[in-house]
Order: sequence, then C-alpha cells, then structure tokens
Amino acid sequence: MLIAWAQILSMKNSQTNPKPVGKALFIWLSTISLILLMVGVTALWYFISPRLHEINEALPFVLLSGLRIFFFILIIGSILVLLTAIFERNFIIARFAAHMFIRIMYPVCIIFGSLIGIPEERIGESFVRVNDTFIRSLRKKFDPKDILILLPHCLQDTSCTVRITIDPSNCKRCMRCDIGKVLELCDEYGVDVSIATGGTLARRIIIDKKPKVIVAVACYRDLVSGIRDAYPIMTLGVFNLRPNGPCINTHVNIDTLRKAIKSVVRKPS
Ligand code: SF4
Repeated sequence: MLIAWAQILSMKNSQTNPKPVGKALFIWLSTISLILLMVGVTALWYFISPRLHEINEALPFVLLSGLRIFFFILIIGSILVLLTAIFERNFIIARFAAHMFIRIMYPVCIIFGSLIGIPEERIGESFVRVNDTFIRSLRKKFDPKDILILLPHCLQDTSCTVRITIDPSNCKRCMRCDIGKVLELCDEYGVDVSIATGGTLARRIIIDKKPKVIVAVACYRDLVSGIRDAYPIMTLGVFNLRPNGPCINTHVNIDTLRKAIKSVVRKPS
C-alpha cells in the first residue's frame, strides 16, 4: 500500500510537472520516514532493554531518556520545517531543531525512498525546493556585496582554454557558453560570482568570501551537499541543465537565475 502510494505520488509529479519536482515529495517522505524511524527505534529499544538491564539497571532508562530528547528535537524540527514549507512564512524559531531534522532526515528519506522505488534525484530536487522556501519565508533582501553566485565549472565550454576558476573576469564573454551570460547578469545586479571545480574549492570560496546568502547553480547532488555544508549560510538552489549528460557543457536557465537573484537582492536606493 505504502509502495503504491509512493509510486502514485512520484508518477503524479512526473506527469503533471515533468521537470521540476515539487516540495510535497520531501514533505510526505520525511514525515513518514520520521514515524517509521521512531517505530523502528522504539521496537529495537524494547528488544535490547532486558539485555541492557542485565549490564546496568539504569542503562535502559538513560537510553530511553536520550531517545526521547533526540526524537523530541526531530519532531519540533519537522513541524517547523513543514510549517515553513507549506505556508512560506518563517516558522524556524528553533534553527538547531530544523537543522537536526534536515541533517538526519535527508539520508533517512533517501534510504526509505530507495526501498519504495523513488529515485534519489527526485528526493534531492524536492529537498532543494523545500530549502528555497526557508529563504523566501524570511522575506529579506540583502546588499549585492553580501550575495555570492556560485557556478559549477562544467558550465564552461570544454573547448574554451581560458582559466576562469581563479578569476571569472578572465572570461572573454564570447557567449559560446552560459558563463558569459551569467557574468553579464551578475554585473547587472552588482553581485559577486565564483566558479568552483568541486565541493572542496566551493567550501574554500565560501570561507574566504563570507557571503550572507549564496545562489548556487549545480546538479541536485551538489546542491543538496552544498546546502547542508554551507549551513547556517542560506543557499538558494538553481538546477543546471544537462543536455550533454552530467558534468559536461551544462547550461543554466538565465531567467530562472535572474528570478533567484531578484528574490534576495536589495535594489539600490
Ligand atoms: S563565454 Fe566564451 S570565454 Fe567565457 S568561458 Fe564561455 S567559452 Fe570561454
């Protein structure tokens, strides 16, 4: 029954909205995963508590108290995340609980999703959309100098020999690839831009530049890990387009990127 439901939800998403996956998938999956996790851990506790009691009389009580605190934080986090995602208002009054929920429940959702046949990519996309609502719910605008546009190196045309990772301004803006268009867009809004070849360089760039908000272009996998790694810095995700397969001559929808920048940048007075 559960598998059938998940497949219907997954099919519904793919039929009505073939490209973007909505927030609903992650919201439902994380709620069900949390309930199953609680049931599973409670069953495990009942199974092992007599053995723990033999080791030390207080051990089952200590473990149970720890589990109660752990699940209480996760439940608070899940309620705050769900309310924020559904109403697009800022309910994140306990950032720690929301962060714990995302840190722990995302991998649990991936495992549960794989068991019922939902691809990791769809869960990742849905998670990125839920994360976007956290930023939108703040209804806050930032100075252009506090915004960093982070691009993947695979946007660059493979035949281009210009070194743009150290300094994006080396780009000749010949418009053979989307890097030139993105740089023009960044100039228009006065926001900083960096190009990373991977997660390690991206982390170093974020540490060096200390932005208050990041607009990242990447595939779902890099966006999910980037969002989780960059926390507490907020990251707005824009999916790259991969007509040639992953990591080679990728593209980005400039209108989508413009919308993302506009949603966080403060207009000059
Ligand atoms: S726009 Fe032209 S110069 Fe700039 S990275 Fe792309 S191909 Fe190279």
